[in-house]
Amino acid sequence: MNDILPTETPTWQYIEQVTQQLVQSYGYREIRFPVLEQSQLFKRSIGEVTDIVEKEMYSFADRNGDELCLRPEGTAGCVRAAEQHGLLYNQQQRLWYRGPMFRHERPQKGRYRQFHQVGIESFGMAGPDIDAEIILISAALWRALGLSSSVRLEINNIGTAADRKAFGAALTQFLQQHEADLDEDSRRRLLSNPLRVLDSKAAATQALLVNAPSLSDFVSPETAAHYATLKQLLRDNDVAFVENPRLVRGLDYYNNMVFEWITDELGAQGTVCAGGRYDSLVAQLGGRGTPAVGLAFGMERLVLLLEASGKLPDSVNQVLDVTVLASDGVAPQQVLTLAEHLRTRLPGLRIMSHCGGGKFNSQLKKAYNSGARLAVIVDPLPETGDQTVRLRQLDDTGHSETITVAGLAEALKRALATP
Ligand code: ATP
Ligand code: MG
Repeated sequence: MNDILPTETPTWQYIEQVTQQLVQSYGYREIRFPVLEQSQLFKRSIGEVTDIVEKEMYSFADRNGDELCLRPEGTAGCVRAAEQHGLLYNQQQRLWYRGPMFRHERPQKGRYRQFHQVGIESFGMAGPDIDAEIILISAALWRALGLSSSVRLEINNIGTAADRKAFGAALTQFLQQHEADLDEDSRRRLLSNPLRVLDSKAAATQALLVNAPSLSDFVSPETAAHYATLKQLLRDNDVAFVENPRLVRGLDYYNNMVFEWITDELGAQGTVCAGGRYDSLVAQLGGRGTPAVGLAFGMERLVLLLEASGKLPDSVNQVLDVTVLASDGVAPQQVLTLAEHLRTRLPGLRIMSHCGGGKFNSQLKKAYNSGARLAVIVDPLPETGDQTVRLRQLDDTGHSETITVAGLAEALKRALATP
């Protein structure tokens, strides 16, 4: 599988850092759970008649004949693990996770067979306020990354399972009159999962749907009231949205509110983040009824979007603050020792010591290429007086000052504090 983006690029790490800080600021804690699961878990949660389960899962029988698969998404595994560890019983939880997911899709830009999601899930809260919180976190993430003008929010109310059943019957009846014009997948789904037809990418099918019955005429008053409050909360918090009555999501566990963040800057792979409420999933997987809502976003698409946006701060590519090197005639050992001394005095600073000796000029060249802002150059020990070093700006000026080792930590702090 070489259709995978490199995961440890600086942009990637930057997004992870910003995300981690953000979700922690909302009181979410990270949960880890396995990459390998029983295939059954996803069949029961995502649904048998969905793209993911029908066509995209990496399933196989293990040596015992158990049917296992590489997880295609995070929510089901998160619920299973949280339930198994007693995190959901009679309590509220705010959890997040990150990691690889696997889907056997046709690889293309923004679509890979191993990709990575960050998921944010909250359990035990039934009101629209927590739905709003989940959406606000994503909006805050776009703000933090400078992407707010690159994405738009679409939302919909998909009602309860019973609402959708009634709507599905009406939709089937309508579509059966136009069966010949439907694409093949939609024809197959007409009886098994008619709502999935709404999601069809075929232009002819989409054209037909213009006159189809609308889900909004079938949703129950409770979900409509919840949805109306959610919209008000979004307005109150200055989150702009568009209602898309055809937004149904490709996973069966959702109910009530669903949403997607979409960009026009990545071609066909326009959905960068998606989520919704899933109040039945915990019970469906064997737990006690627990209301829940969550989202997931794809790291690769976000990396592509951020790199295309030109909003990437320069500091993203900077992994070093200081490099320590030796003047000609200074033993390499002194560089190592001084760097250790500095790391103890200035924890958090990123300090690299030059190893392997060599001429000063070639060390300095490497220092310039390292991306560090400052070089500390160890001078030969003078006959009298204290050991000194030169603190040199690694920029075009090459400005340097000579200072004593005792004053070095303070001088470094000062130099790095000035932009
Ligand atoms: P799409 O409509 O693009 O197939 P989806 O509805 O299958 O997306 P979800 O299952 O909701 O996507 O996953 C949430 C997010 O994960 C998506 O919005 C996207 O950013 C990312 N994602 C999903 N599948 C892939 C993939 N194969 N490669 C890269 N990112 C993906
Ligand atoms: Mg998909």
